[in-house]
Amino acid sequence: AAGLQWGDPITTLQEGMDPFEDTLQRLREAFRSGRTRPAEFRAAQLKGLGRFLQDNKQLLQEALAQDLRKSAFESEVSEISISQGEINLALRNLRAWMKDETVPKNLATQLDSAFIRKEPFGLVLIIAPWNYPLNLTLVPLVGALAAGNCVVLKPSEFSKNTERVLVEVLPRYLDRSCFAVVLGGPEETGQLLEHKFDYIFFTGSPRVGKIVMAAAAKHLTPVTLELGGKNPCYVDDNCDAQTVANRVALFRYFNAGQTCVAPDYVLCSPEMQERLVPALQSAITRFYGEDPRASPDLGRIISEKHFQRLRGLLGCGRVAIGGQSEESDRYIVSRLPNTQIPSFSPSTCCSTAVTPGPVGPRFPACAPAGLSLQSSPGLWAPRLGDAAAPTGWDLGPWAEIFGPILPIVTVRSLDEAIDFINRREKPLALYTFSNSSQVVKQVLARTSSGGFCGNDGFMHLILASLPFGGVGASGMGSYHGKFSFDTFSHHRACLLRSPGMEKIYSIRYPPYSSRNLRM
Ligand code: NAD
Repeated sequence: AAGLQWGDPITTLQEGMDPFEDTLQRLREAFRSGRTRPAEFRAAQLKGLGRFLQDNKQLLQEALAQDLRKSAFESEVSEISISQGEINLALRNLRAWMKDETVPKNLATQLDSAFIRKEPFGLVLIIAPWNYPLNLTLVPLVGALAAGNCVVLKPSEFSKNTERVLVEVLPRYLDRSCFAVVLGGPEETGQLLEHKFDYIFFTGSPRVGKIVMAAAAKHLTPVTLELGGKNPCYVDDNCDAQTVANRVALFRYFNAGQTCVAPDYVLCSPEMQERLVPALQSAITRFYGEDPRASPDLGRIISEKHFQRLRGLLGCGRVAIGGQSEESDRYIVSRLPNTQIPSFSPSTCCSTAVTPGPVGPRFPACAPAGLSLQSSPGLWAPRLGDAAAPTGWDLGPWAEIFGPILPIVTVRSLDEAIDFINRREKPLALYTFSNSSQVVKQVLARTSSGGFCGNDGFMHLILASLPFGGVGASGMGSYHGKFSFDTFSHHRACLLRSPGMEKIYSIRYPPYSSRNLRM
């Protein structure tokens, strides 16, 4: 049986045969041969990856536009340049990263050589999601290649056009004896996970993260899990509402909200909410025009299934801006032309939107630019301390919005906002807007999240000198820049001793009875 090769459609495989065994066997043998270890080989692969991006830029932009209607600008900044930047950084630092790291010694090892060797794990599996289908495949790949591993890439089946370029074009730029791209959805990936890998790097939902971790546990394979969740965005009363709205809208509607680190919901006072809603409406109109559907800069929802899920959310709350959707286009309206912002009185909002019920939360939502208001210091806020009330809010199908919908939840104080955050799973990212550095520092000190950014959206992740990853339910492990290299390297503890100097070392040998230990 021929294993799954580059570009083989999975449907051509015969029933009952293991589509992956031959390919994996080939890669394992390549790793055992030691071919991937020299710096020259690693650099050649990284350069190949760079050429792949340069030669096929237009093809990739077209594929991303077909999958998510990403604008050329978004594709450039969030997919292509970010991957190219990681390649360049790895190429510049490869030898320094690979160097043995000497460590301090104690009395008993004074005459030895002690160091940490960064060695490749072996055969690595990278499983990627669809929302940044190039970035989230290639950036981990850079780390795996730089660290000298053989790699199996499993792109998402939802971003079909990008998947196709990765399967059919990328292999021409890499050493095929050491790398493979495989196709497949949940069933095939499940089959793939039955095999033994030396490391698994997964980006995707917490639900599938658990499946991957359970499969890895059967082989004691270490994992990095880059997962999602709900990223809170606290807005202090002292902020300039328009500045906050501009920044929040940019990061919420980028890639049509399908970003793991997008602000998932706003926490602010009812007074700030009153100022924020018109400011958001103004930002959305400036960014995407009077008719956002015609804007070349607003993306689309990846699939019919995801579109239906998001449309379902709109029925759960009171929409402040937008709220229309067009199924044929997988489009959710940012803002209706000439729409009046409805005025919200706490009582109407409460009675319609905020009722955590037995089947799940009544989640206040609204569409791009969607804001839905749940506000009512009188009814909702006092219940924050009541375990039964808020916990339902983010359970069930509303766990993560992952689309162009931005709920606002009102709180009466900073303490209440922090309590609201701390009662939930640790988020991948947390945002705080305030003119007071004390407030920003307080939120930072009293909460936990994978990453944190004060007074902006996900700018922390464009800095390769910061680790990117989650904590708790938002993931484990991190990558980007040197962190990627370290993630894909085993840190081997090494001590080299001289074969001589036996007289000195013989003091360790039994019998111990003659030893005068002064403890
Ligand atoms: P997903 O978990 O559905 O799929 C991710 C990958 O797992 C895909 O390649 C898919 O084919 C595979 N998969 C799906 N079901 C599987 C199963 N039952 N068994 C084995 N493999 C399976 O995630 P998605 O919908 O592609 O992406 C969205 C999710 O990813 C969101 O939760 C988002 O927050 C998260 N995400 C996280 C990051 C991060 O860096 N932390 C980045 C992007 C997306």
